[in-house]
Amino acid sequence: MPQRATKIVATLGPASSDPALLEAMIRSGVNVVRLNFSHGKAQDHIDRANLVRAAAKRAGREVGIMADLQGPKIRVGKFAEGKVMLEPGQPFVLDASRTEPGDIAGVGLDYKELPRDVKAGDTLLLNDGLIVMTVDKVVGDAVHTTVKLGGELSNNKGINKQGGGLTAPALTAKDMEDIKTAMSLMADYVAVSFPKNATDMELARQLCNMAAAQYNHKPGLIAKIERAEAIPELENILKVSDGIMVARGDLAVEVGNAAVPGLQKRMILMARKMDKVVITATQMMESMIVNPVPTRAEVSDVANAVLDGTDAVMLSAETAAGKYPLETVQQMAAICQEAEKTDHDPLEDDFVGATFTRIDQAIAMGALFTAHHLKAKAIVALTESGSTALWMSRHSVRMPIYAVTSKLSSQRKMTLYRNVRPLLVDTSADRDTALAEAEADLKARGVMQKGDVYAITVGEPMGTPGGTNTLKICRAA
Ligand code: PGA
Ligand code: MN
Repeated sequence: MPQRATKIVATLGPASSDPALLEAMIRSGVNVVRLNFSHGKAQDHIDRANLVRAAAKRAGREVGIMADLQGPKIRVGKFAEGKVMLEPGQPFVLDASRTEPGDIAGVGLDYKELPRDVKAGDTLLLNDGLIVMTVDKVVGDAVHTTVKLGGELSNNKGINKQGGGLTAPALTAKDMEDIKTAMSLMADYVAVSFPKNATDMELARQLCNMAAAQYNHKPGLIAKIERAEAIPELENILKVSDGIMVARGDLAVEVGNAAVPGLQKRMILMARKMDKVVITATQMMESMIVNPVPTRAEVSDVANAVLDGTDAVMLSAETAAGKYPLETVQQMAAICQEAEKTDHDPLEDDFVGATFTRIDQAIAMGALFTAHHLKAKAIVALTESGSTALWMSRHSVRMPIYAVTSKLSSQRKMTLYRNVRPLLVDTSADRDTALAEAEADLKARGVMQKGDVYAITVGEPMGTPGGTNTLKICRAA
């Protein structure tokens, strides 16, 4: 079992569809896969999810699945040749009513409202800001532009308007259909693209719960923070979500590159304080799409996200469409592991001042405190829903948190939590049998040896979500 606390989210795509490669990626450290609903059909995602579950089984690991909804992102349509090469100074037309595939003169739009949202003089940034166009005029459904910064533009690339201010609602009709698909494949997380406020997330929650009811399933909800408007709403968004994604691609385009590193630190801090999870995303190992090694700057970027306290770092095109998906995962895992060794104050001051009123939360904090002072080998949380493990993992401690659950859905959800190793153990027996089984399991995995001290939290009677009320300090037999 890898001794890495930070989790890796890998986006799947054509470059990671081979079953053997997928298995190798999971063995090398992928904890959660992202199914990008901006590309592909419902059946593609279902097939991919099946591939993932099968590969995870072969690898003997549990992998979470995150369904990432397309959202109202304005995207260009498809090109006849898959892509075009745009030159600075050339005209280019973004036409909402165009039905034929795109060419060098223009392309259709997925987002039909764009002509209503822009006016002459606006700056449009395509493909995460790599291509820049200015709007000359809007004629009916056609946005006439001049290319300022050229480059390759391929199928379904995103368009942003500088400064934000798009009218589109966060959940489109397509998203509502995709939510149904995501629930049918039992996605552990649903990521909502471009939410502006808590209301967008509440609507997403309702739609997910409705679609998931027939499967007796409750997905976690991740708000992708990628709109300028979402920043002042961060706290409210966090309150109604299970986590956030620092979606640096679109966010950078809307707020400007330079503002992003500071925002990343603020978002990670705020998420952890509010007992939520946080994923840092986009361009983390970008150069590895084409190169077998990352740049020094990318290494620093990943390491700094780890030091900021992120739960997970995410790979996008690196694993979906890159030349070196496996190598990227391997190197990202190594960077995380090394960064985690860096000296930092375990159990920071905020822990001492933390307030908690719930019994289960008090036990979780007590376990952290005690394990820290006793220099315990591990903390073991017997947990139904995973909340005890979540609370513990919001603080940095040196020892791993083993979350033992009898619920597969909880195990999968916890794949995203930093420093939590979720284990599926049948805890349906009485407490002592369950504790003995947990210890035997950890010894079999080489986590613990005879004589090692560890802390266990458990609910008495067992099996009640939110019922954790007991802290036990054990010495492995
Ligand atoms: P995307 O989201 O990859 O779906 O665009 C992430 C981001 O914008 O950073
Ligand atoms: Mn985005």
